[in-house]
Amino acid sequence: MKLSIKTPLAIASIAALAVTGFGASAASAATARTAPVTPASIASPSDAQDAASARAQFNEYLKTADLDDATRAEYEAIGASDESFRAAVQTELAAVRETLRDAGISEGMAGAIDPGDYECSTSELTTWARAKLAAVDPQSWQWYNNGLLGVSPALFLQYWTLMKTPTDPHDAQFGVNGDKTNEMSRTFRALESFWGIDDSEIGLVPFDAKVFADTPEAAADRQFVYDKFGEVNGLISILMMLSVESGVKAGWVDGFPGGVDNPLFTLNAFALDPDRAGDSTGMLADLGITRRVAMGVGLSSMWSEIGLGSVGDRAVLGHEYAHQVQYTHDLFETDLTDESEQTRRSELMADAFSTYFTVSKRGESLNKASALQAMQSFYTVGDCSFENPGHHGTPNQRYASSAWAADFVKAQENQGHIIATEDLATEWERVFPELIAPDAE
Ligand SMILES: [Zn+2]
Repeated sequence: MKLSIKTPLAIASIAALAVTGFGASAASAATARTAPVTPASIASPSDAQDAASARAQFNEYLKTADLDDATRAEYEAIGASDESFRAAVQTELAAVRETLRDAGISEGMAGAIDPGDYECSTSELTTWARAKLAAVDPQSWQWYNNGLLGVSPALFLQYWTLMKTPTDPHDAQFGVNGDKTNEMSRTFRALESFWGIDDSEIGLVPFDAKVFADTPEAAADRQFVYDKFGEVNGLISILMMLSVESGVKAGWVDGFPGGVDNPLFTLNAFALDPDRAGDSTGMLADLGITRRVAMGVGLSSMWSEIGLGSVGDRAVLGHEYAHQVQYTHDLFETDLTDESEQTRRSELMADAFSTYFTVSKRGESLNKASALQAMQSFYTVGDCSFENPGHHGTPNQRYASSAWAADFVKAQENQGHIIATEDLATEWERVFPELIAPDAE
């Protein structure tokens, strides 16, 4: 079922709504802040929010919403019982999530951290993130990650980052308090000219959580998403609005130390080319989403707090830009059929491309040791879960792929030469089996 009716959504109507969800009022949330976040408190989206409560808010909204008769009848049928409501939300939510997956966007890293799993993920990143996580009010965390029946503020934030207009890098703020703005725009331009991709094609946007601020400017940005989303999926748009607005009004954002600046909101980076998003290309186009690289401000916080502020962001940007190079040259194509193996291949190739840029004379011209140190800071996201489609390769494999690229640059006769991208990919593909050998299943 696709709800294609444009839904007029007015934020004014939400102001009258009582916050009935999230199992607590703002007042009781304040007392919950002393409780630590434990694995048990991080419930999965499906069982976190009870359909009855979400449905009550939805039906309450319908009373005040300005809808045409047909849309109203359709929505009232959806809201008639918990079963019909849950089924409709799950169907529509699956489509909205599938679109992000088609676009190659993984969940934020914070959402992927399982505090109970120490086996393969005791990296500096996870240690740092767990400490940040422990300081967050559990109910705020619940709100952010689960929202109403899984239509979460986290999902909203990803779509907002994709839907906002890519601005000139000079106008956008990167890093903590904008301290990485110059570095990011300079590196982005260097990447464009190095890989020979038309600079008008790809936008660089910050992935930040300012849109959750309780200000008129942020409210207007949120309204933009609800309106635009209402054109492609009315039900999810309404739930997104109910979920995000009630939380903003109730102060759930402040359950994250530092409010909208808390790094856990934005511990991710991604590269997207809507034209290469398979079945989801149409929906991305309807949402006005264009080709871009998004850099999480939370990652910048992390790099500076673990002492890698000078290299971490550039390593991430080089890697994400490499995904754009892969899009341009169809390098995601492979004979591998297993999804996690496909992902590992494209991620390890991106690490190699990033290092090739970093070491090359006409790239960043770093020496091998510095480049590998920079890339190593990034391998902390490597993990051991081979079944996970988001598998980036183990730290050993990522190091091997980067080291190969650094040696490849050194072996070039003409140090100022940039090899054709297809040739670089062919050379890399040749050594790929050796690169993954140390930690292959
Ligand atoms: Zn990647």
